[in-house]
Amino acid sequence: MWGKLRPVGSRIPVAHKILSTGQFPWHQNYRAEFTASGTQALAMAVAFAASRKKSVSAPEIIIPAYGCPDLVAAIIAGGGKPVLVDLKPGTGFMNESQLRGAVTTRTVAVVAVALLGTPERLDILSKICRELRLFLIEDAAQCFPPASTESAWADAVILSFGRGKPINLMGGGALLVRNEIYEESKSVIDQFPRMEARLGLVWRLKRRLFHLLMARIPYLVLEKLPFFGIGDTKYHKCSAVIRLALPESLVHAGIDDFRARPLVYPLYDRELKGLERSGWTILGDSSRSPNLPRIRYGLLAPTQRLRDEALLALNNSGIGASRFYGQALPGIEGLKEICGPARFPVAEDFAARLLTLPCHEDVQAEDVALVARILKGQSSH
Ligand SMILES: *Cc1c(COP(=O)(O)O)cnc(C)c1O
Repeated sequence: MWGKLRPVGSRIPVAHKILSTGQFPWHQNYRAEFTASGTQALAMAVAFAASRKKSVSAPEIIIPAYGCPDLVAAIIAGGGKPVLVDLKPGTGFMNESQLRGAVTTRTVAVVAVALLGTPERLDILSKICRELRLFLIEDAAQCFPPASTESAWADAVILSFGRGKPINLMGGGALLVRNEIYEESKSVIDQFPRMEARLGLVWRLKRRLFHLLMARIPYLVLEKLPFFGIGDTKYHKCSAVIRLALPESLVHAGIDDFRARPLVYPLYDRELKGLERSGWTILGDSSRSPNLPRIRYGLLAPTQRLRDEALLALNNSGIGASRFYGQALPGIEGLKEICGPARFPVAEDFAARLLTLPCHEDVQAEDVALVARILKGQSSH
């Protein structure tokens, strides 16, 4: 098939005609404030966490050393200082003993980030945070529903409705605050300006255009145009933090669309099984978030060389495989000065060996079979 299977991105819903009266999945334990992006939701969560420890003048926020550079942008925009913690080997999770070691008298919050659709271990992290009196934020930008909807582990949860996220509204986000502290949070949240969402003709045309460009041939062309910078990871400052009046019906439509998407990861689970014998690691424990679509399927190659070769071979065959962020946070351009000189060997190794595969609704069984042939053929050399 000519063209390129895009790495990520699902179709955008339109708001239901009838106003949805259903409850959001988080309604029992959290209340939502919609925002202009996931980054801005996280900035608000950080500002709220810092406001609860007024005696701390330079509040520190703990995040994993491998992750989205927007985490750093959000923390700075919320008035905090990011503190990095290395990963647990072979996973995208934070190393708990290093997390404990990173806590100082200035620490106010920990961000538990779900990577590639697998939630962090909120049970473990909430225990540590309760013990050390820290605010726990679940970053569910890549995972829906958040783990905290089942059990109210986190004090706040953030969601993203950007392109390439589980619920794609071409932008927007949400800050969910635990019911018990919602009233308290209002004094901080209400200080941020509030805008009406613009979902008129321009939004609808953008949606159409996005759908056109998702197909295999347009995507291949798009990828070749350097000014779109597709696939590049860059650090962008977060210069405004804004609340957004998103229609609840649109968010409901996004959630319904997400749930109705075909499950692709079980196909990969089945086809890639034997790879673990050749030293690959399959990320994401399917038993922890069963029967929910994922945005990307993640694997760790045995070595960086094998990852890079697989990346090239897959892309040459029309599969939009990706190295994802490509670097641990301090290795991303513009972040060295902010993150400091410390090294995070596990996160660096994770970045060097990570490979993500498309997991969206247009991935066909033939694509998964092709991926398996390429990866298995390569490992038998
Ligand atoms: C995308 C992402 C964000 C930021 O969300 P935006 O809506 O793009 O601002 C935050 N955290 C993680 C883990 C993400 O993947």
